[in-house]
Amino acid sequence: MPKTNNMPKGIDLLRDPSWNKGTAFTMEERHELDLIGLLPPYVNSQDEQIVRVLQNFRRKSTPLEKYIYLINLQLRNEMLFYRVIIDNIDEMMKIIYTPTVGMACEYYGMIFQRSLGLYIMLNDKGNIREILQNWYKKEPRVIVVTDGERILGLGDLGTNGMGIPVGKLALYTACAGIDPSVCLPITLDVGTNNEELLDDPFYIGVKQYRVRGEEYDEFIDEFMSSVKEIFPRCLIQFEDFANLNAFRLLDKYWPDYCTFNDDIQGTGSVALAGLFSAMRITKQKITEQKILFLGAGEAGLGIGDMIVAAMVDEGMDIVDALKRCWFVDSKGLIVEGRDHLNDHKLKFAHPHEKVDDLLGAVKALKPTAIVGVSGMKQSFTQEIIEQMSSFNERPIIFALSNPTSKAECTAEQAYQHSKGKAIFASGSPFDPVEYEGQTFVPGQGNNAYIFPGVGLGVLVCDAKTVPNEMFFTAAKTLASQVSQDDLDKGRIYPSLSEIRRVSLAIAEEVMKIAYRLDIARAPKPDDMKATIESQMYEPNYRDYV
Ligand code: NAD
Repeated sequence: MPKTNNMPKGIDLLRDPSWNKGTAFTMEERHELDLIGLLPPYVNSQDEQIVRVLQNFRRKSTPLEKYIYLINLQLRNEMLFYRVIIDNIDEMMKIIYTPTVGMACEYYGMIFQRSLGLYIMLNDKGNIREILQNWYKKEPRVIVVTDGERILGLGDLGTNGMGIPVGKLALYTACAGIDPSVCLPITLDVGTNNEELLDDPFYIGVKQYRVRGEEYDEFIDEFMSSVKEIFPRCLIQFEDFANLNAFRLLDKYWPDYCTFNDDIQGTGSVALAGLFSAMRITKQKITEQKILFLGAGEAGLGIGDMIVAAMVDEGMDIVDALKRCWFVDSKGLIVEGRDHLNDHKLKFAHPHEKVDDLLGAVKALKPTAIVGVSGMKQSFTQEIIEQMSSFNERPIIFALSNPTSKAECTAEQAYQHSKGKAIFASGSPFDPVEYEGQTFVPGQGNNAYIFPGVGLGVLVCDAKTVPNEMFFTAAKTLASQVSQDDLDKGRIYPSLSEIRRVSLAIAEEVMKIAYRLDIARAPKPDDMKATIESQMYEPNYRDYV
């Protein structure tokens, strides 16, 4: 008999998305649960409902309409929502996540219907504990939090950025089976510097400029300590903070909190996994690579650190490993002696003459790989890709900026300009490309392959912290899940349809690290894989009576 003690009845049951089954309540349930008369007579199966949802979904003419339709479903019937997402992940991911979620955030005020998370504003300082206690679901085990300052590559969207925590947590459930009732999306409203939003009558946030400095830090501090006090077993994922805050907050909190920054660590991990797969194609070693990044922000430096860790793991000296990573940012090539380099960039500043742009850097350095994490669309020009192809048999070209409109080049451009030689991955999805009779399936180098599995492992063993080693092992595990068939198609990540299996494998490796480092609070299970599997949420209806 399923546990249904706290299940509501009657209209409250139909209005509760965690319990609601809509027209699939059986006649017996309708009688027992005070639903008679509240539903049309015909009883649907979940499969019939899925067919109806998919037909309605596919009839919507724009991605944003599809997004709104899915959010409505999530607000109405969570099990049906997740069944549809999981079974159609390729089609759905691009709607609930990048690229469509970016557009949804831009219009968030206009399309807002009902809150799916918590909004905490600066005025709430001193009362954050009380606000957290207003959360109405089970005790949260995962919070995804943003302050909306760097939403994808779209910049400061303030409180409209709430679409990101909501979307990421939907991926936690869909990709790794984290129970949605323990997921909590949070937006911290510290103002916005986006003038358009400040003038927008439909903006849902506080209309004031961003607060910085001590006041901001105290606010974040109260938030972190309140979460730890009220929800002591909760993982906190930082998401889409601007880089002036992201690195410092990570440095400050990771040693004592169960927390990580997905833009830095998750991105580093997924890109490294892609590079591992690329090595299987080129038959080279990571230590033989010279990587040139466009963009030296959270994503770029996070990837750089992870690649250096991989080179060191393969026996290279750290000083030599650092020298194999080069960065171009908005001021040109990062070289020794350049002004205004923070510590994170400084270690990648090598002796070299000044170079103003990416093309110049490609010509001067002859890298084996270029990695786009700048948010600068179309910055991998035909000339740059041709140059890369002139001195590499298989140039590695990762255009990771999101959403699609910000990608450094399209999949088609990468394959065409390299004459089918590029090993390509992008942050947002691209359709397969036909080139001279061959079909290339571009891989999606998206953190969604990493954070759900890492989070699952952390939750199951109740880890106290999330050391970087977990992301390194996640990269290795993800790469190990790529089949020869994937590689033959040019795809350096497994198919999305495999993602729950991948997350399970990552979770197991993450747990092994937690037990080895003695940071797990749950007793060590004899069979880790079976324990994880048993805790993965499956959105199938069950009988209530
Ligand atoms: P960020 O703001 O921290 O860094 C952006 C970097 O780009 C900065 O170093 C900046 O100097 C540089 N830049 C800006 N304009 C430039 C120009 N004209 N020429 C050269 N460099 C320039 O942002 P971030 O968090 O690093 O994210 C950057 C991009 O990466 C975004 O589009 C984001 O969506 C994407 N991203 C993708 C994934 C993924 O999973 N694929 C993950 C994280 C971030």
